[in-house]
This record gives sequence, structure tokens and C-alpha cells, in this order.
Amino acid sequence: MKREFAVIGLGRFGGSICKELSEEGMEVLAIDTEEDKVNEYKNIASHAVIADATDEKVLKELGIRNIDHVIVAIGDNIQASILTTLMLKELGINKITVKAQNDYHEKVLKKIGADQVVHPERDMGRRIAHSIISNNILDH
Ligand code: ATP
Repeated sequence: MKREFAVIGLGRFGGSICKELSEEGMEVLAIDTEEDKVNEYKNIASHAVIADATDEKVLKELGIRNIDHVIVAIGDNIQASILTTLMLKELGINKITVKAQNDYHEKVLKKIGADQVVHPERDMGRRIAHSIISNNILDH
């Protein structure tokens, strides 16, 4: 069964999520404010649109309400990330995953109801540290 996803922000993180979901046969709506980013994904995602996700009217026009799971992968612009998450929550999105830039950002995202907050660099750093430790144990 195909599930519907939207990825907002097509940087390295959001772009990689968009690509993997699409390759797994999922329906993905890809959104970014930058035309070149959107062009990069128009043959990968089911739909790719140039849009500012902080504009509530735009989100409504895109029919984001009907999407099951939205991934907010807006990078450095913490304000835009928080505002977008808040609006998605108000629109009643079933599942919202957001990339956090730092611990304060993460705290706010959880408070406003993000279902899953990820911190890719930190999480990957931890995972690699654990894998280094287990490889060292195996080596001894
Ligand atoms: P990293 O490389 O650390 O993973 P990133 O590359 O994912 O970070 P950015 O380069 O900041 O992070 O990418 C965020 C993307 O989000 C950019 O392509 C940017 O154009 C997009 N973006 C920023 N604000 C908005 C917005 N309001 N609506 C839609 N897209 C946005």
C-alpha cells in the first residue's frame, strides 16, 4: 500500500529522505522555496513544488491536510521550522517528524506537538561511537 508523505526542505537531510521514500515506492510531495532544489527532485518525488511552508494559505492549497506523515527538514531557519510545525499541527496532520538544530529547538518542537524530533548529526555521532566501541571489543 502506498502511503503519502510530504518533505519540506530539500537540503541534504530532507533530500535524502525524499529520495529514499520515493525509491521505496512511496508517494512523496517535495516542497522547497528554492527553484533549483525543486527541479532536482521533480523526477524523483511524485510531486515537487516551489512553496514557502510558513505560509498557511499555501499549505492549505497544497492539500497538506490529506497527507499522513510530514517531515520538516528546514535547516538553519529555526523560526521557519517552528512556525511550519505549529501550522501542520493545527491542520491536524497525523504524524510530524522534524529535524532539530539544537537542544532548545528540540524542546520547543516537542512542546508544540512534533511527534518525532530528530537530530541527525548528534544521533549519527552516537551511533558511530557505539559501532566503534563494538568493533573494538570484537578486535580484542
Ligand atoms: P544539512 O546539510 O545539515 O542536512 P540541510 O542541507 O538539510 O542541512 P539546509 O541546507 O538549510 O539544511 O536545507 C534546508 C532546505 O529548506 C533548503 O533547501 C531551504 O531552501 C529549505 N527551506 C528553508 N525555509 C523554507 C520554507 N519556509 N519553506 C520551504 N522550504 C524551506
